[in-house]
This record gives sequence, C-alpha cells and structure tokens, in this order.
Amino acid sequence: MRTNFQYKDRTSSICYYCGELPQSVDHCPAIAEVDRKGIEYFKKERIPLILISACYECNQILSDHSIHTLSARKLFIKKALLKKYKKILAMPTWEEEELRELSDELRYHVEIGLKAKSAISLRILW
Ligand SMILES: [Zn+2]
Repeated sequence: MRTNFQYKDRTSSICYYCGELPQSVDHCPAIAEVDRKGIEYFKKERIPLILISACYECNQILSDHSIHTLSARKLFIKKALLKKYKKILAMPTWEEEELRELSDELRYHVEIGLKAKSAISLRILW
C-alpha cells in the first residue's frame, strides 16, 4: 500500500551525493521502508522525510537501504563508488611523454581510462 507521505522538498540542480546532474529524486527514507514501518515510526523517531536530487547511479545504489540521514547516505554511496570503480581508480598516472610513445589505439584507451578516473574521483570527493 502506497500512501502519499509528506516529504519535504530539498531538491536542487545537482546530485546531492556526487555533484552530477540529477535525473531522479531520492526519497529519504525510501518510500518502501516508510510503507513497511508506517509513518508513525518515523514521527516517533523524529526522522524527517526528505526529497533530494540524485543522479540515477546514486539513487540506484541507495535503493531501499535503511539509511535515514543524508550524511550517512552520502557516505554509503562513496563507499559503494570506491568499491565499484576500484580498478579504474587504481589506474596509474601517465606522463604526456609516456602517452606519446603509445600506439594511437592504446593511447586512446588509456586516455579514456584516465578521463573516467578523473570523473569518478571528482564524484567521490564531492
Ligand atoms: Zn550522484
């Protein structure tokens, strides 16, 4: 049974968790959990219901995990991103001179990896 709970709207133009463009709205706590435990539980525990902007990936990572504060949710996502992108983040840095010595095809792949590493690092540091 889904009820219309009163979530406070705290959405903005960036993913609260990683700084990317948001394509979704995260319900904190998840609607499924509020449905399951009942709204009275959250009132009694003084857990606010908040809507927050999130990118697809962050929202997907949170799923319906029982995490009730934005800071705890953010930390949970950062740990998940670190684990998920462990290989990319472990990529060594390359000097320009080293890149020039590679074949075009290999350099292309290395540069894509470095861009991905940079992008994911920014999201984790957000
Ligand atoms: Zn995000």
